[in-house]
Amino acid sequence: MDNKFPGKDISIEDIKTKFPLVAKKDPLHFSSFTIAGTTFGKKLIPIFAGPNMVESKKLIFDVAKNVKKNGAHFMRGGAFKPLTFPYRSKKYYETREKGIEWLSEAKKKYKIPIITEIMEEKYLDLVSNVADILQIGSRNMQNYPLISACAKTGKPIMLKRHYGASLRDWLGAAEYVLCEGNKKVILCERGVSVPHTHRSTSRFLLDLQVVPAAKEITHLPIAVDPSHATFWRPWVESMTLASIAAGADAIMLEVHPNPENSAVDPLQPINYIDFKNLRNKMHKIALTMNKRVI
Ligand code: PEP
Ligand code: MN
Repeated sequence: MDNKFPGKDISIEDIKTKFPLVAKKDPLHFSSFTIAGTTFGKKLIPIFAGPNMVESKKLIFDVAKNVKKNGAHFMRGGAFKPLTFPYRSKKYYETREKGIEWLSEAKKKYKIPIITEIMEEKYLDLVSNVADILQIGSRNMQNYPLISACAKTGKPIMLKRHYGASLRDWLGAAEYVLCEGNKKVILCERGVSVPHTHRSTSRFLLDLQVVPAAKEITHLPIAVDPSHATFWRPWVESMTLASIAAGADAIMLEVHPNPENSAVDPLQPINYIDFKNLRNKMHKIALTMNKRVI
């Protein structure tokens, strides 16, 4: 394939020189690794499902039980949250240390591995004790000291793309993990900011084209989070199926028993029944790609 056509801002040669560990060594080079018994980068498309935020012990136990029953491979949920509105962040909503404790209890009780966000290095021991995957949120995608500190723990890392970051910026951030000797990195597309939106509630645009674009260059698995990208429940199903068709290696979905009452971003989570139905449709699309979600 010609990598030099006009308008292409990065070439494989450029990435190989600047980010040698992230770059593919040959066109068929795709890395795969196992986290908590689930293999990424092969035929299975692992699913991360759960609420935006670890709101309460009751909620997180209920979600763990239900998403596990309906086929999620990992439970997601933030105890430390990068909330846009500061007044609700500290006092009223973030559950922080308590939230991490509830995640730990739910993980043990329902035997479901956890992906959760790490916001500050000072909480790294606490969070990495329970997290099977450390999530670096979009807002911290270029927080290199945080990324390096997380990488040094040896814990698998999911690096969400900042909504303003180019593919090159994103891959550069991933190189910060790999150069610490940590090879378990998942990239996650979660929507980009564009000057126009489809409707006033749509904050981001799901950049599905970045999946094949990234796969041309890097061997790392690419996850997609249609919940954050669409910010709008009615679009989550179609964009999830499209993500699989685009080649996503994992899917992150916000699932809440009572989505309208979600403490954070109530427009985007789907309920348990919709998750169950969506997972069946995901499997059908995956099969056409010679992959599976089950
Ligand atoms: C999240 O997954 O909870 C989250 C905050 O995502 P993002 O960093 O993509 O906004
Ligand atoms: Mn969010």
